[in-house]
Amino acid sequence: MRIDLHTHSNVSDGTDTPSALMGKAREAGLDVIGLADHDTFAGLAEAYAAAAEVGVELVPAMEMSCELRGRSVHLLAYGADVGDEALLAELVRIREGRDQRLPKVLAKLAELGVPVSEEEVAAQVGDAPSIGRPHIADALVARGYVPNRDEAFVRWLADDGPAYVERYATELATGIELVHAAGGVAVIAHPWGRGSIAVLESEVLEGLVTEHGLDGFEVDHNDHDQSQRAELRRLAGRLEVLGTGSSDYHGLGKQDHALGCNLTSDEAYAALRERMNRARMDQLDRS
Ligand code: AMP
Ligand code: MN
Ligand code: MN
Ligand code: MN
Repeated sequence: MRIDLHTHSNVSDGTDTPSALMGKAREAGLDVIGLADHDTFAGLAEAYAAAAEVGVELVPAMEMSCELRGRSVHLLAYGADVGDEALLAELVRIREGRDQRLPKVLAKLAELGVPVSEEEVAAQVGDAPSIGRPHIADALVARGYVPNRDEAFVRWLADDGPAYVERYATELATGIELVHAAGGVAVIAHPWGRGSIAVLESEVLEGLVTEHGLDGFEVDHNDHDQSQRAELRRLAGRLEVLGTGSSDYHGLGKQDHALGCNLTSDEAYAALRERMNRARMDQLDRS
């Protein structure tokens, strides 16, 4: 089976509607697709309807902004209860942090000689509840300052760039706990990608598994080279947790992340479904 467990729609910083994304998943020959918008479940209802129509299997997911020792770590939540109050309240807090960051970033950009207004960013965000740096990048592109998103990150918006501003993110251990309490499965996205590699050494990943019940981490992702993938695959095997693969598709937002460019094995997907069932049963047991 062709299984791609981590993609984005325009409900966060992707460029396809959830419906269009499901159609493209079918065209790309995917059997299973995970929709994991940043800090929101808002795209899932539309995605379910479209997935049923085109005949792909949707795995409901969300990519939560977490932090560990001051570094950004992205946590994928699979199958979490989208009505869980504690998790929803935390997502509101994260999205408020995104809102509060916006004027500070725009002030820095103005100082750097490339002003854009909140309205111009809002025009790029549309109805999405999650305002991201990629939307600010799109506004800079619309102004003609740079040709594409990537260039806006390289020049101004990257974590070490001159217009970077921190925002609130959930402590990683708390994030894992919240996802589990909501009956979800917790998988770290691109652990050895930019930023998080500095704080997620193998021993730290092992500790998160043994002490916090982390369910797995992404192995096959464009942020990882071949030797990193081999090492992460061995580690997931030794720890008996999920080692997944994904495109992290963002539509036109990330040109080198085509749907299905990395895949999850049938075995890892079966193990994910098992963990999703167990997590949901545990949640029901507690309620
Ligand atoms: P935010 O969550 O708003 O801080 O923005 C982070 C998002 O921007 C990520 O989910 C990526 O989609 C994108 N992104 C982060 N860093 C880069 C980069 N260096 N180049 C291009 N896109 C990036
Ligand atoms: Mn993104
Ligand atoms: Mn991510
Ligand atoms: Mn992502």
